[in-house]
Amino acid sequence: MYLYNTMSRKKEELLPQQGKQVNIYACGPTVYNFIHIGNARPICAFDVLRRYLTWRGYTVKYVQNFTDVDDKIIKRANEEGSSAAQVAEKYIAEYKTDAHGLNVMDADVHPQVTTCMQDIIDFVKALVDSGHAYEADGDVYFRTASFPEYGKLSKNSMEDLQAGARIGVDERKESALDFAVWKAAKPGEPYWDSPWGKGRPGWHIECSAMSRKYLGDTLDIHCGGQDLIFPHHENEIAQSESVTGKPLANLWMHNGYINVDNKKMSKSLGNFFTAREVAEKYGYEVVRYMMVQAHYRSPINYCVELLDACKASLERLYTCRDTLDRAIANAPAGAADPDSLALFDQRKQAFITAMDDDLNTADGVSVLFDLVRDLNTRSNDPATTKDTLTAGARLFDELTGVLGLLYNRKQGNEIPAQVQELVDARTVARKAKDFAEADRLRDEIAALGYAVKETRQGVEITKL
Ligand SMILES: [Zn+2]
Repeated sequence: MYLYNTMSRKKEELLPQQGKQVNIYACGPTVYNFIHIGNARPICAFDVLRRYLTWRGYTVKYVQNFTDVDDKIIKRANEEGSSAAQVAEKYIAEYKTDAHGLNVMDADVHPQVTTCMQDIIDFVKALVDSGHAYEADGDVYFRTASFPEYGKLSKNSMEDLQAGARIGVDERKESALDFAVWKAAKPGEPYWDSPWGKGRPGWHIECSAMSRKYLGDTLDIHCGGQDLIFPHHENEIAQSESVTGKPLANLWMHNGYINVDNKKMSKSLGNFFTAREVAEKYGYEVVRYMMVQAHYRSPINYCVELLDACKASLERLYTCRDTLDRAIANAPAGAADPDSLALFDQRKQAFITAMDDDLNTADGVSVLFDLVRDLNTRSNDPATTKDTLTAGARLFDELTGVLGLLYNRKQGNEIPAQVQELVDARTVARKAKDFAEADRLRDEIAALGYAVKETRQGVEITKL
C-alpha cells in the first residue's frame, strides 16, 4: 500500500517496522465542546484506514489521545461553574456518542493527559537535561535553536519562521520560536507538582509523551488534520526526535479541510456545525458517507446539496442490499455462475487498487457502485442462483464494512410471526386467485402496522 507522506510530499510504500503490525497515532480532540464536522473528518478517514489495513491482514494498534487539560477546558469550567475534570469527562462522553454514531471504532488506547502526567513530566525532564529545553519562572520552553531540522514537516525554514514570528514576544524566551512544554500554574488553575514547581503540560508535549509510551520511539503512521502540521506536529517532531534521536513517524498523513458553502468554516462566519446538529437532521451515517465519498486529502465542500446527494447514495446501497436479501430468499438453487464470480473478483481487485493508492476511498466508492449495478441486475434476474447472489452479497458486505457503511441495517427477520403467517396465507390466496381473501389479509396485515407488496424478488414486507 502507498500513502502520501506529508514529510516527503510523495506517496511512499507502507513498510511497517514489525511485519504485519502497524502502529498508528492520531491526535485526538480537546474535550471542551461537541465535535464539529471538521473534527469528524479525521476520525472517519483514519477509521477507514484502520478497517482497510485490518481487512488486508495487518494487525493495527491505534492510539488516539484526549486532551483533557487545556486553557479552553479551564475557561469552559469557569463559565459552567464546574471543574476542568468535570468538563473533560462530560465531553469525552459526548465525543464517544458522536464517534459511535459515526461507526468509528474505539482506539486501542485513549490516553489522557491527566492519566499520563508522570510520563509527560519525565519527557520534559529529558528535554531539560539534554539542553533541548530550559526553565524560566516555572515555565519550561523548548529551545528550537537546539533542533536544526525544525520546520522540516511544514517546509518552513528557521529563518522564515523567525522573520514571521511576532515582535514583542515573552522576553523570558530565548527565541520567538521557542514554545512551552510546561506552564506554571496560574491561581485557580488545576496543577501538578513538577521539578519546576506547580504547573501543567503544554499541548504539544502530551502527544510526544503518549505516543512514545504506548507505541514506541517511531510510529509507522502519525495522522491528523492538515491544520495540525504547523505548529503542533512540527513541535512534536522537535521534542520527540531531540529525546530519541529517531524519526517520530515513518509516514505522516493529514486530511483536508471542510469548507462550508465554499467558505472556510469558522466561528466568526457563523457557519460552524457540530456533528451532532447535522446528525440530528440527516443521521450520523450520512455524515460518515460524506467523509468517505471524498479522498481524505481533498477538501470537502459541505452544503445541503452534498448532504442530500450522500443521503440518496446511501439509500441506493441499502436498497441494493435489501433487494439482494429478498432475491436470495427466492433464488433457485444451483452452482454459482463462473462469469459472475469472475466479475465480483474483478471489482474486489479494483477496490484494492484504489485503496492501496493512498487510501482512495473516492475511487473505492465508485467501485462499490459498479458492484451495486452488477448485483441489481442479478437480483432482478430470476435465473440467478442463490450461490451467485450469496457470493455477491458477501463481497458487498466486505467492501461496505471496510468503509464502515451500512451499519444501520436491521439484522435478522424482525417481522412478527403473526404478520409473517398472514403474509404467507395471503401468498397462498393469491396463488389460488382468491383476490378477495388476499385483500382482506392485506388489510389485516396493515392493521398490525405492516405493508405487503409483490416485487420481482418476492414478497416485500415493510413497517408502515
Ligand atoms: Zn498531537
